[in-house]
Amino acid sequence: MNELALNAASLRYDNGFTALNNVTAQFDSGSFTALVGPSGCGKSSLLRLLAGLEQPFIGSVAGLAQRHIGFVFQEPTLLAWRSVADNITLPLQIEGHSPNEIATRLDEALALVGLADFADALPRQLSGGMKMRVSLARALAKRPPVLLMDEPFAALDELTRFRLDDDLRAIWQQQKCTIIFVTHSVTEAAYLAERALIMQSGEIRQEIAIDQSGRDGGFRSAPAFTAACAALSAALGHDIGGEI
Ligand code: ADP
Repeated sequence: MNELALNAASLRYDNGFTALNNVTAQFDSGSFTALVGPSGCGKSSLLRLLAGLEQPFIGSVAGLAQRHIGFVFQEPTLLAWRSVADNITLPLQIEGHSPNEIATRLDEALALVGLADFADALPRQLSGGMKMRVSLARALAKRPPVLLMDEPFAALDELTRFRLDDDLRAIWQQQKCTIIFVTHSVTEAAYLAERALIMQSGEIRQEIAIDQSGRDGGFRSAPAFTAACAALSAALGHDIGGEI
């Protein structure tokens, strides 16, 4: 089932720049898609279109209303003077949920990101990876069927990123949400997603399915992972996997 779809959608900014040109893509319910491409190719613009933050000037976006979508950015954007719990629950308070409902969702979100013991901490007491976990928990607490993630782990060190990649995969399998994940990293895309959309100059140039065999063991050493890295690198015009 299609959760979200772009139908021949183009996006032009107020200054006349066409950031997306005639983009068609389907995002099935419960799927995990990576958007990969060089800086400036339109990845964030595509997410903004899917979130309803921008409107296409030609074509259409079909799918959920904006309130059903969780958005996670590279910056955790936490309020420095509010505790972890208060940062996570702020959107729920704004939406007007009951105190009981808010408490239930807070516990659930903290458990999902492994921060059950840090509800009362302030952002300055947390590492970069933990701040990103809070940001993820804040999005998950809204129980969105769709999570849009814009290079969320790009500023983190590699080991922290690997751990968050693993946890995100587990959360995705548990919550059965649809994830669309922007990354500069070929290896991160190959590790996380079931397919990658290769973008260039405001267009989707290629769709690459990522073979999921070997997921139950250490996927980073599985032949399917190596093959996916090679396929993505080739599509991007690189010889080896890595950052672009
Ligand atoms: P990416 O996420 O792949 O780096 P973006 O979607 O952020 O790319 O940007 C695509 C292009 O659109 C870039 O050339 C960028 O400068 C331009 N752009 C992005 N946002 C705006 C805006 N609000 N107004 C005008 N141009 C923009």
